[in-house]
Amino acid sequence: MNLILLGPPGAGKGTQAQRLEESEGLVQLSTGDMLRAAVASGSEIGRIAKPIMEAGNLVPDDVMVTMIEQRIDRSDCANGFILDGFPRTVAQAESLDDMLRRTGRRLDAVIEMAVDDGILIERISGRFACADCGAGYHRRFRPTAVEGVCDRCGGTEFRQRPDDNEETVKTRLAAYHAQTEPLLPYYREQGILRSVDAMAGIDDVAARMREAVGAARA
Ligand code: AMP
Repeated sequence: MNLILLGPPGAGKGTQAQRLEESEGLVQLSTGDMLRAAVASGSEIGRIAKPIMEAGNLVPDDVMVTMIEQRIDRSDCANGFILDGFPRTVAQAESLDDMLRRTGRRLDAVIEMAVDDGILIERISGRFACADCGAGYHRRFRPTAVEGVCDRCGGTEFRQRPDDNEETVKTRLAAYHAQTEPLLPYYREQGILRSVDAMAGIDDVAARMREAVGAARA
């Protein structure tokens, strides 16, 4: 089963992709995580992407398409994948369609995670992650069980994404509305778009996501 999670920054795509990864046995492919790893490693792609990401804009389509093409071809994606953060433009979606067609695969569902802009700033500005294992938390909605200690690995160092600040979030939201939202009619026309209300708590949204995946499987 091959899925796309579509939604604005802060909709919970990464959190829900991780849940589906466990419950459905799929691989999460987060282009944001791939780019952050490229920036950390100081690679050519990282050097191109860093200032663009810090400003909240989109990295050029050709860079993203090459990156996802190489990743999707790896053997761990054979059972299915969840794309989190890709495609973000119609040109990326068209390239993805071509890529899948060439390799005899297809998309089973595109799940829109619908959230009002008003709550996104609070969701995003409270996010932090373990510096050791990358486990994601939120000051209010998903704190660590013991303050200052990672639930998963026991690490005590945490970090915030440099682009998770109010000013950059506004640019990221504008990019979503202008460049990514046109994907909704694009996939609606293909008959594979499903919409989930993602305003509720993490567990409720996870249940709705599993329902949507189940309906797509049927
Ligand atoms: P994310 O972690 O998905 O919020 O992505 C963080 C940043 O990485 C975005 O604000 C963009 O600058 C960049 N990025 C991630 N995925 C894409 C994509 N598919 N196309 C263009 N830029 C992307």
